[in-house]
Amino acid sequence: MTEIGKKIREYCDELPQGVRLVAVSKFHPVEAILEAYDAGQRIFGESRVQEIQVKHREMPEDVQWHFIGHLQTNKVRQLVPYVTLIHSVDSLRLLECVDGEARRIGRTVDVLLQLHVARETTKFGLTPEECVALAESGAIERLANVRVCGVMGMATNTDDERAIRAEFRQIRHTFDELRRGCFAGAPWFAEVSMGMSDDYRIAIEEGSTLVRIGTSIFGERSY
Ligand SMILES: *Cc1c(COP(=O)(O)O)cnc(C)c1O
Repeated sequence: MTEIGKKIREYCDELPQGVRLVAVSKFHPVEAILEAYDAGQRIFGESRVQEIQVKHREMPEDVQWHFIGHLQTNKVRQLVPYVTLIHSVDSLRLLECVDGEARRIGRTVDVLLQLHVARETTKFGLTPEECVALAESGAIERLANVRVCGVMGMATNTDDERAIRAEFRQIRHTFDELRRGCFAGAPWFAEVSMGMSDDYRIAIEEGSTLVRIGTSIFGERSY
């Protein structure tokens, strides 16, 4: 088995029940993705719409493509036919745009609401307050072709484990609040996407259900 394949098997063994691996393959070639696929991996994370379009053509049909990058409304049309889950919805406008596109092609698209809890202002997302306000506004229920399945977030890029843990806890807390509140009747609202190569263990301890791991599987990316 290849190094990439071995990594996939290691994660399969390590991740607890209820936590799924998103293998973040952005900027890596199809050959590398195929090595992970041959080891059994089916969920791959990408951050650019064009890259998903190309890789979708070249990879087997049963791959599930997750979009994890910042999404602009003018790219939604090109993304919606190929994507299984969009992790990074951060506005009502974007949600409406995905809904409209999904309706146009006759499907329903699963999405997560991206939360901003990190100290870096460069990161995207709704604050927990904005997210709860959006959910409580009733606007989401009117959108018949998107299904909000949970939340996604990133912790600050720091060595301070306590700070990382506190941010993940905030994400999980917001999820729990929404699940008990507006999404109480929505059993599909069940995903908490948090944790990357350097912090996924903390994320799992704090209640992640989807970890997004790139570098530690595929190596460094060359941009
Ligand atoms: C690139 C990326 C990852 C993967 O990060 P690694 O440190 O390579 O594991 C996870 N989540 C998001 C949103 C990303 O953009």
